[in-house]
Amino acid sequence: MPGTSRMPISLRKSFNTVKRSRPSNTLQLLNLDLLRNIIFFLFVLRWTRRALWKLKGRGVLGTLAELYINVRRISYGYFLRLPGVRTRVRKEVDEALAKMQLKLMPPNATRYLTLPKEGWTEEVVRKELETLANMDHTRWEDGYVSGAVYHGEEDLMKLQTEAYGKFTVANPIHPDVFPGVRKMEAEVVAMVLGLFNAPVGAAGVSTSGGTDSILSACLSARQKAYVERGVTEPEMILPETAHTAFRKAGEYFKIKIHLVPCPAPSYQADMRRVSRLVNSNTILLVGSAPNFPHGIIDDISALSKLALKRRLPLHVDCCLGSFLVPFLEKAGFETEPFDFRLKGVTSISCDTHKYGFAPKGNSTVLYRTQELRAYQYFVDPSWSGGVYASPGIAGSRPGALIAACWASLVSVGEAGYLSSCEQIVGSAKKLADRLHDSPALAAELEILGKPLVSVVAFRARNLDVYDIADGMSARGWHLNALQNPPAIHVAMTLPLSKVWERLASDLEAVVEAEREKERVRIVEGKRAKGKASGDAAALYGVAGSLPNKSVVIDLATGFLDLLYKA
Ligand SMILES: *Cc1c(COP(=O)(O)O)cnc(C)c1O
Repeated sequence: MPGTSRMPISLRKSFNTVKRSRPSNTLQLLNLDLLRNIIFFLFVLRWTRRALWKLKGRGVLGTLAELYINVRRISYGYFLRLPGVRTRVRKEVDEALAKMQLKLMPPNATRYLTLPKEGWTEEVVRKELETLANMDHTRWEDGYVSGAVYHGEEDLMKLQTEAYGKFTVANPIHPDVFPGVRKMEAEVVAMVLGLFNAPVGAAGVSTSGGTDSILSACLSARQKAYVERGVTEPEMILPETAHTAFRKAGEYFKIKIHLVPCPAPSYQADMRRVSRLVNSNTILLVGSAPNFPHGIIDDISALSKLALKRRLPLHVDCCLGSFLVPFLEKAGFETEPFDFRLKGVTSISCDTHKYGFAPKGNSTVLYRTQELRAYQYFVDPSWSGGVYASPGIAGSRPGALIAACWASLVSVGEAGYLSSCEQIVGSAKKLADRLHDSPALAAELEILGKPLVSVVAFRARNLDVYDIADGMSARGWHLNALQNPPAIHVAMTLPLSKVWERLASDLEAVVEAEREKERVRIVEGKRAKGKASGDAAALYGVAGSLPNKSVVIDLATGFLDLLYKA
């Protein structure tokens, strides 16, 4: 200290005491300050980084638009909570639910709400099962349903039932007790890996369905990023048309979701947006082959390139494409690269219970390497119940379903899947051609994108497309209503491929009838849109215009409750 020598002795003394007696405290103070500054700085850095990522991912306008939507959503939420509004909304939701209940539950059926005192005889059980199977329903047997039943032929169903019967008690969690089930499960996975051109070293697991497969793949990607890169705030980038199971994975596993628009005319994920959304928290890129809403295959080649460049995993959702997309080329249809031949593809979900024709409760998830698969395993070495290990979410699993899946795959065989692909995709293309060529349909309906597989989605140019959906329902058809944009789709199946011409002519009749109604409305000078008449029009007409979907959530939650009303 240069000035110390000129200080009076007394002061110098006290200064020295201060200096000598409190060096650690000063240091502590200094350190605390420094620490506080560092923490503050890190905080600022973190938030700045986030803000920059957001600006880069969404753009300035996109960020502002998002802000606007959020403000509108929140203020509308407050509006819905106003006392008068709330009671009215509740009343309307309850009325809609009462209507649904009437449809779901025939009022005159006998209800069994407690265990019978004495067990029924087999004869009585059989009779009751017969009644249940014959309850009034949409006629899938006649091909009146889009999707849902993919094969449905008597012979295959009989074989599946037999396979199921042989393994009713089987559970793959005990491979020593049921070695046959272990063998069949491994073989199903091997066969599907083969279909998707998996490289040496690739691996997979079977799951309970497409959602399970997707959840598993997202979990694996999240664990990989955590273990290998220390990512604690994982994010994934989804085409907005990707199956909602990915959003479910986001909720369950705390993965932030970025949605990427899939604009006309291709309806594929916008690759520039995907690329801009990548940051150091990204754990997974996703593409569909094809997606559920529009049946469009994303640009998987471009996604693969980006995945390789940014060293990220890429999941291809081929749940719907399942056993059709791998056969497109052999069947002579136009196709696009989608499988492990693209080096950036690290995992694929494929539903054996869709176009693999296995009974419901079967799917597979495939990984490029065994290490990727191991990230979805659960192993507990210390449980009092013993060392526990399971490949996926479920513990005990139905061996019977694995047997029925294996039996389906080996009985249909390559030739069978090839000819199904010809018939199903062939019929979807004929339906699409009819939409283009029929004067009645071409003027009003527009196909979304260029579907290469089994789904044909279309929107209406002037009419309300949901009125068309309701018109088709009135004629016994169950088609799928879509939103953002409003549209309908038809997912071609084997049963539907036998009656697609009737579907097309019914569609012509419905469109014609709706146009006539519209003409009358205009002549009579009524408002373009009166109160919606059908269910689809009521639900989506209202839902589409709301800035806040809480009413739709209430309605859907009430619907789920109804499913369990005995
Ligand atoms: C059906 C489907 C799924 C989910 O399958 P579930 O078996 O219903 O869980 C996932 N992705 C796509 C594209 C689908 O069509």
